[in-house]
Amino acid sequence: MPIQNISTPLPHAQPMEPTDPNSLFAMAVESVNSACGVIQAPDFVKAIVSQPKNELMVHFPVMMDDGHYRLFKGYRIQHNNILGPYKGGIRYHPDVSLDDVKALSVWMTMKCAVMRLPFGGAKGGIKVDPRQLSPTELMRMTRRFTSALGGNIGPEIDIPAPDVGTNAQIMDWMMDTYLNTHQEGRQQGMLHVVTGKSVGCGGSEGREKATGQGLCYVLLELLPEFRLKPAGLRLGILGFGNVGSHTAQALAAHGAKLISVMDHTCALRNIHGLPIPELRRHVQQTGALAGFTASGLEVIDRESFYRTEVDVFIPAALERMIDEAEAKWINARVIAEGGNGPVTPAGAEVLRQRDIALLPAILCNAGGVTVSYLEWVQNKAGVHWELSRVDRELQQTIVLAARRVRLAAHQYDTDLSTAAFCVAVEHVTRAYKQRGIFP
Ligand code: NAD
Repeated sequence: MPIQNISTPLPHAQPMEPTDPNSLFAMAVESVNSACGVIQAPDFVKAIVSQPKNELMVHFPVMMDDGHYRLFKGYRIQHNNILGPYKGGIRYHPDVSLDDVKALSVWMTMKCAVMRLPFGGAKGGIKVDPRQLSPTELMRMTRRFTSALGGNIGPEIDIPAPDVGTNAQIMDWMMDTYLNTHQEGRQQGMLHVVTGKSVGCGGSEGREKATGQGLCYVLLELLPEFRLKPAGLRLGILGFGNVGSHTAQALAAHGAKLISVMDHTCALRNIHGLPIPELRRHVQQTGALAGFTASGLEVIDRESFYRTEVDVFIPAALERMIDEAEAKWINARVIAEGGNGPVTPAGAEVLRQRDIALLPAILCNAGGVTVSYLEWVQNKAGVHWELSRVDRELQQTIVLAARRVRLAAHQYDTDLSTAAFCVAVEHVTRAYKQRGIFP
């Protein structure tokens, strides 16, 4: 069939857009839709990406340490796989909901497309506070969830990774459960069913710091656009977990200073720079920023944290943390989204009016999935690369993506955030046009 027939709108390809304007999924679809408008993507592409391909919801019982059973709710949303197997994190958090997981799966498709990784987009999670579970309960819940996902995940089907509330240990348990319940997995050693594993279980060097390291490379590439330099760059970071702390550390190696930081327990400031290694050690030992002491340290309130003057503000916590009020308070030249979906549409509008540039998460935090891809490649090939090689591959991939985004911003005369979605949608559209739609 000629390609031009495929690119004409399908007669019934109506987008199924979410109607609740406060939903994160509506936000994600809107960001894709506006890019579709800019690049004039065919209607059928807009329709296809407006909903996930598969939505899996599972309920499963787990025995707690005291002998009683608790029922858990888990999700795996597979948004799109035109570019390759589904790929995306697993989140353990009490606020995990179908709507949010769907949104995060859309962004995964877009992120992999911007980076030109041969992956589609997915996301999953369990509605649970992992801090309330013992290690053995956490292990049983993870194994039971993995078994409930069954053949819906797999090394060439859908490859989970860590996200908020999960880590390398959880990924090791997922991989082990999969291999023990799939004959072909045991035969062929399909370690690459999951990425973000510990190095001893087939994980990649550099995966743990990858998202922060990638954000650092993106900023080094794009800072000149804003007449900023890494040396002396003042940072404000919201969230000091995996992404926030590794971003701070990576940028500090280029001379940046962490001026202010906030997590779910408190906000801290030192206009001369906070001691990053000591902060990281404190959070590793206690789980939070609260209780940290150092000379020259100010403990500040939430509003003062947002109002603190910095050059780059990095939200690296949960979604929707910059709404209208926070967008009015922020005192920065650039916001680099370390976390997913941190800015609401109302917040984005205020930032636009205030001429504060927004660097989008699908570019800024793509270092994680990029090194996940490198882990997948290493597992498939049965090799283990040195950290220097992983860092080099990550840098090349993410810097090229940042350049593509900058070019698209000039080409379409739009902001960098819209440009990133344009780059992603163009790539997805090209694949649909070339492959066509089955049958
Ligand atoms: P994490 O659990 O390691 O850290 C989350 C941080 O957010 C913690 O410091 C926590 O205290 C803080 N936080 C939570 N609620 C808060 C609140 N109400 N106010 C202030 N701070 C709050 O999680 P992470 O892995 O660093 O992920 C953070 C974000 O980055 C998420 O949006 C995640 O989806 C995204 N992300 C993570 C990775 C990765 O590799 N870890 C990759 C891509 C995207």
